[in-house]
Amino acid sequence: MPKSDQLQRSPADRPSRPLVVVSNREPYLHSVAEDGTVAWEPTTGGVAVALDALMRERGGVWIAHGAGNADRRVVDAEDRLLVPPDAPSYALRRIWLTEAEEHHYYEGFANEGLWPLCHVAHVKPVFRAADWRAYQVVNKRFARAVEAELPDLTSPVFIQDYHLALVARYLRAARPDLRIAQFWHIPFPHPDQLRICPYRRQILEGLLACDLLAFQLDRDRRNFLAAARTELGAKVSRGRVHVQNHVTTVCAVPIGVDFDRIQKVTRDPGLEAEKQRLRRELRIDTPLVGIGVDRLDYTKGIPERLNALDCLFTRRPELRTQLTFVQIAVPSRSKLESYKAVEADIDQRVAAINARHAGDGLAGGPVRYRKSALRIRRLVALYRLADFCLVSSLHDGMNLVAKEFVAAREDFNGVLVLSELAGAAQELGDDAVMINPYDVEGFADGLEQALDMPRDERQRRMRALRRVVAGCDVFQWASNILEGLEQLAPQPLPPPPGGTRRTARPLTRQTATPPVPVDR
Ligand code: UDP
Repeated sequence: MPKSDQLQRSPADRPSRPLVVVSNREPYLHSVAEDGTVAWEPTTGGVAVALDALMRERGGVWIAHGAGNADRRVVDAEDRLLVPPDAPSYALRRIWLTEAEEHHYYEGFANEGLWPLCHVAHVKPVFRAADWRAYQVVNKRFARAVEAELPDLTSPVFIQDYHLALVARYLRAARPDLRIAQFWHIPFPHPDQLRICPYRRQILEGLLACDLLAFQLDRDRRNFLAAARTELGAKVSRGRVHVQNHVTTVCAVPIGVDFDRIQKVTRDPGLEAEKQRLRRELRIDTPLVGIGVDRLDYTKGIPERLNALDCLFTRRPELRTQLTFVQIAVPSRSKLESYKAVEADIDQRVAAINARHAGDGLAGGPVRYRKSALRIRRLVALYRLADFCLVSSLHDGMNLVAKEFVAAREDFNGVLVLSELAGAAQELGDDAVMINPYDVEGFADGLEQALDMPRDERQRRMRALRRVVAGCDVFQWASNILEGLEQLAPQPLPPPPGGTRRTARPLTRQTATPPVPVDR
């Protein structure tokens, strides 16, 4: 039975403790359809799917920003509704943001400040006092909503991502005995880089209000521990940070993908027709196909990838009639100048490559560039069309596309060409073709290696990659974090004003060490 189905048990079989999930993005979004009716759709992306499955199993409440243009129409007086809309099993509590708050908290502090601070991609982080104020206000609003929505005091709270670094702190001040975990999905910067941020201490203190703090890679975990030590003078011992009376366990739990769901799509009898449709739409009539699938983001190394392709077509002009490269780039954060700039750069490079390498009778050139999102079925069809998939991030927390491509290749074909600067390189580096996106010639060598790879080697590498990706899927990731949280020993509580110290009620079975790696 697929793990996602295993998680969808009937309410009567539910484990007793409901869960509180807090994220910026909501799992279901309502919008006004063309005919004026209200339609809903689930949010795509592995994290949302995994946490949704968990919530269906355990029940509880998910608190998130209501971003759909019909979201307000379907909530009750407390801004709640039951989801999934077609099989209600938990509550979604929507948080409303004004346009100005969205501008300062989301676009400003989270995406112009923290995002470039945490990614080594040579885009200067921007920190404005007004953005920081909005970030605090919005984080406080999320924390208040958690407090109001707690099903009971033993419900674990799972906070997702860098938009909400202060929620645990605000929450802890109101509810000292809560069990809180947070996952930081993006890289965590080295302390030297973190120093750019004028609000770094508050960010660190915010995160240290969690009981369990999980990062993608051990490198991120080490960076965080070093920052806690140098910035706050915190005591760090065996992966645990002690600040005053509170202990935060800091671990690395790399995220996975929904392997079973992707496999299921690959077995869909309609997939072949979908592949043919894509071929027609994208005008692919070459025997070889390469793909790149990304959000349109400056961290993804798309210009660097185009440079390597340019180099490849120059070295081997015969490939112009044999290879089509498809780039899917989903527009994102497009109001920000840094994103407009990378979009314009990519537009210009695609046009130049296509002009340079459009051979006789080859109208259009070898690159197909599509700036819109594909849904899961079409995405899997594209993954299956490809002879190779390029992931050339300049820096990336993980890169789920790399893992999804592997999950889709049940046929053991296809080569993953992977940047050594993507988080996924840690797990997939042995059997992907590894490249450095800054080294154009070396990157082009990697492309040649992928194209010339003997079938046996291709299949051997893909089998090995699939073992890794199947071995730790997104459900495993979520339960590692939650079980890690639930197995922590109880924390001593701060003394009540003028009173004696209380001890936190044990929430669950206690172990001396959490089940997550805690080496320094
Ligand atoms: N994605 C999608 N449709 C597209 C392109 C991307 O659904 O047309 C999804 C993709 O399946 C993946 C996610 O977007 O799950 C991108 O995640 P990744 O970790 O690669 O990068 P991020 O956008 O989180 O930086």
